[in-house]
Amino acid sequence: MSAEQLIQYLSWALFLLVCASVTLQAVRAPRRVTIDIALFFIIPALIIGLGIEAVFGLLPPGPLINAVDTVLILSMAYMLLRLVDDFSEVPAWLMRGALLALVLLAACAFGFAQPLPALITALMLIYLIGLLMYSAIAFARESRRSSGVTRRRMQAAAAGSILLVLVFVFTTLRLLLPAMDSFWQGLSDLAGLAAGGCYFLSFASPRWLRRAWQEPELRAFLGRAARLPRLLDANAIIAELEGGAATSLGAPNARIGLWDPEAGKIYFPLGDRNYALDPSEPIPAARAFRTQQPAFSADVPREHPDYAEMSRTWRLTAVLAAPISAGEKQLGVLVVYAPRAPIFADDDLALLQLLADQAAVILESRTLIDEATRVRAREEATRLREDFLSAAAHDLKTPLTTLIGKAQLMERLALRNPSAPADLAGLQLLVSEGQQLKRIVLELLDAARAEQGRLVGERAQIDLVSLAEEVCARHTADHHPCAVESNGPVIGMYDAFRITQLLENLTENGVKYSPQGGQVRLKVWTDTARAYISVSDQGIGIPAHDLPHIFERFYRAANVDDRQFAGMGLGLFICRGIVEQHGGRIHVSSRPGAGSRFQIELPLTPVREGSHA
Ligand code: ADP
Repeated sequence: MSAEQLIQYLSWALFLLVCASVTLQAVRAPRRVTIDIALFFIIPALIIGLGIEAVFGLLPPGPLINAVDTVLILSMAYMLLRLVDDFSEVPAWLMRGALLALVLLAACAFGFAQPLPALITALMLIYLIGLLMYSAIAFARESRRSSGVTRRRMQAAAAGSILLVLVFVFTTLRLLLPAMDSFWQGLSDLAGLAAGGCYFLSFASPRWLRRAWQEPELRAFLGRAARLPRLLDANAIIAELEGGAATSLGAPNARIGLWDPEAGKIYFPLGDRNYALDPSEPIPAARAFRTQQPAFSADVPREHPDYAEMSRTWRLTAVLAAPISAGEKQLGVLVVYAPRAPIFADDDLALLQLLADQAAVILESRTLIDEATRVRAREEATRLREDFLSAAAHDLKTPLTTLIGKAQLMERLALRNPSAPADLAGLQLLVSEGQQLKRIVLELLDAARAEQGRLVGERAQIDLVSLAEEVCARHTADHHPCAVESNGPVIGMYDAFRITQLLENLTENGVKYSPQGGQVRLKVWTDTARAYISVSDQGIGIPAHDLPHIFERFYRAANVDDRQFAGMGLGLFICRGIVEQHGGRIHVSSRPGAGSRFQIELPLTPVREGSHA
């Protein structure tokens, strides 16, 4: 057997093998695409069949065999064009024109005596090479648009079509340059073998190869997926998963539907929020969830006419869906949809299921993280409630004990001696302790308001300097002289009551935390857009490690002792609420033993975001 014969037999064997494989595929899953692929390979099989007969001399070569051969070759090019149309748009006029030309050329093949007139042969070659080139370009363009397995398969189909063009080019050269007949024949056979190989890879690629082609997409998806559960927002995770699935499958859209067991429906958090899918519906997404198997519809409006409207609105024609389940737990569905059917639905379904399984892992880990956060938040709330109760109970207890003790004493004295004059000092103590109690209760209420962002009420034009002077005057004492520094009025729109409370709190703290005495200084100044206030003292200061927490609720620094410095650790929390709800900021700088300086920055005009009033 010569080398040429070997090549020829090999390419025959290859085409026959592919033909058998794709025919089987078409029988198993009869869809337009699979049938077109099968037909496309049946034609070369028939051509080869004729070739074998010729080899074995079963049929004497004659004009009829030649004509059949010619028509088969021409219809192979037409079938290739149909395949292109199966996955990308071929203009209708081209499809119809190609069919008409095929019929006319076929009529010529049978109508004219062999050898065919040169013009007819030339027209046939133009038809063949034209359609093959068009297909090669369309396959190449489609390969750029798609990804993963489909991309590789389209590249192989494009290469196959170019090689087929070469087969005809070499055959033509053989006719034009007969001196090198065997050289052109050899090249033509080689190109035919290579074309067969490419079409084999493209339309009947073995499973292991498809897996290898899928791998980069899968790896990229998994790489991204590993970081997902840490995203804060559950919808951000879903968006990433949807984007990843769409890219991996080379589809324009993907959606994740989540099962709501209470409603008995599937909801699409990033799709139409009002849309609820019932698992009993016939479309792929519901079917995949119901059967827990991937499901596919190549043409929703045709297969499910009731959904034609929806299909138009969301531009979904072909739909692939896979269940998202973690063990027994059914979480939802991953749906990929496109305006046209995928060419290789089985591969895509297998990949989609892999992605859906990965999505299940991510969504489950996210749920676990959420649960852990909820538990932590509950613990935190319990701790805060306990803190609150113990702080409130502790702070309310001292004045209440004094108040009740004093009142009982006064009651006993009054009973024993009803005509004795009223104990004025005792009554004053009752009043002052009562006021202390009221202050604590108000502080607790304000802390709750600060928490809810409801501290600041109506604002009016006020001068911060005169407010500071009033506050300072109320607190100045021998050991704690209070002074205000300013360059004239600083006027802005503020809630006067709350700003007074803010300055009172800070000045009071300045006095309270300077047990050895020392000056408390209030400074008020402004630049074009903001007002600044600072309150400084020369007191005990705040340890560095307490500074970041000092504005937290119930937080008291390590250097303050409850017996020496009464307080609940709510004042600064309320101060921060007042400042922030005015659209400002508060900072502290301090050195233990040297004093503290609180600085406030407020906008001169109201800031909408800062105001929750
Ligand atoms: P309280 O004074 O009731 O404890 P605050 O919220 O006003 O609550 O203050 C929180 C904590 O910040 C105080 O317990 C104290 O440790 C510290 N602190 C606040 N102001 C000063 C200050 N001027 N000097 C030193 N420490 C201060």
